[in-house]
Amino acid sequence: MPLNDTIAIKKPKAQDPGPGLGEARLDVEGITVAYEGRPALRDFSFRLPRGARAAVVGPNGAGKSTLFKALVGLLPLEKGRILVHGLPLGAHQDCVAYLPQRENVDWNFPVTVRDVVTMGRFGHLGWLERPGKRDRALVMDSLAQMGMEALADRSINELSGGQQQRVFLARALAQEPHIFLMDEPFNGVDRGTVEATMALLDRLKRDGVTVLISTHDLNLAAERFERVLLLNKELIADGPAAEVLREGNLAKAFGSALLVSEGRRLLVDECCGGHEDRGHEERVHGGKEACDDEEARR
Ligand code: ADP
Ligand code: MG
Repeated sequence: MPLNDTIAIKKPKAQDPGPGLGEARLDVEGITVAYEGRPALRDFSFRLPRGARAAVVGPNGAGKSTLFKALVGLLPLEKGRILVHGLPLGAHQDCVAYLPQRENVDWNFPVTVRDVVTMGRFGHLGWLERPGKRDRALVMDSLAQMGMEALADRSINELSGGQQQRVFLARALAQEPHIFLMDEPFNGVDRGTVEATMALLDRLKRDGVTVLISTHDLNLAAERFERVLLLNKELIADGPAAEVLREGNLAKAFGSALLVSEGRRLLVDECCGGHEDRGHEERVHGGKEACDDEEARR
């Protein structure tokens, strides 16, 4: 069945994005996520229309990584729901690419760069289907876009942090996503990788890909993202950076960690209040038809 029909039939009225927003690509409705009964995110709602680019900001432990993991189904919801193209998580999972926070990945895994990026194609392949010519071409093209094609046969654990990050970005690109989630993509990487990521964000915008990143760099969020979601366990503000990153909101989110707030020059003390990241959190998404049909629609 063509996806258009599926969406037209199944999309509940409540998902209508309203005038001026275009078709909603990602709807998060009142989600609560808890660890051992303790909520890390409470009653969190937002909507990203197609092609939107937004930054999630908040202090360490605010729930940014929790949000991203919930968005790809790695964590169960206590309450609320998440819809991709108006459908529940799962139906469109291969349309959603996820770059985990570096600290959440086991980089010692002995696998080549090419293999990692090829994993991005798995959601598009049928059961037991091997990657074909187009898949292999896409893998190399994605690597080339991140300036990594020369390292295709190297083992991922031999690369620098920035190079590893670019390989993971290439993997996400090979997935041909409609929604691209990047958890702290600028953390602990070199300047060149920051710039390469920025250039990638611009290309994704031109292609109409919806992008959500998390960062604790308020300057970067203010300068490079038209929309900012400020959170600390709950959503404190959501809108244009200039409106969201006001002193009152920042004080609510960062409390005493906020050092300076001078127009757009915002410095935040990130030394305290952190937490240990826990283990390897990786995953390749499955499900083919929904994305293919959606592609045809683009
Ligand atoms: P951020 O990414 O904004 O730094 P996280 O989403 O990683 O924040 O963490 C939010 C809160 O949830 C923190 O208090 C953290 O300690 C807690 N937390 C994160 N992962 C786990 C886990 N696996 N088990 C228990 N608590 C966790
Ligand atoms: Mg995090």
